Amino acid sequence: MFNPGSKLYAIRKSKCPRCHQGNLFKSSLFSGQGVYNMHKRCAVCDQDFELEPGFYWGAMYIGYALYTLYMLTAIALLFFGTALTLNQSFALTMLGALIMVPYIARRARVWWINIAIRYNKKIAQKSTLKPLDKKIK
Ligand SMILES: [Zn+2]
Repeated sequence: MFNPGSKLYAIRKSKCPRCHQGNLFKSSLFSGQGVYNMHKRCAVCDQDFELEPGFYWGAMYIGYALYTLYMLTAIALLFFGTALTLNQSFALTMLGALIMVPYIARRARVWWINIAIRYNKKIAQKSTLKPLDKKIK
């Protein structure tokens, strides 16, 4: 389920949705080089990561769903699991939401591109033999 070849693997590891080998992002979220610091193309299979201009606008829908899930879960856990009032739980959850903005924004992009592009086993196997890492940098 979480092995190469499954969507969840590519989503969890932020890998190219087509070959599950190339990285989507140039650097870690905590490197300070920007939230949306993505490669233009896959370094392994040459898949274009910006399918059309404004492609990632659709990731807002995924981000909205992820925020909603986070907010409902966090408020419920804080309200029912601690002695906090509903307003205190909401305020603490909002503070956490502000901190999570970059993380959720990246996750939304990863989900969005994985919805649009399917895994291709043949390309993945061929790409393993001839990595294009040097060509793309
Ligand atoms: Zn790839």
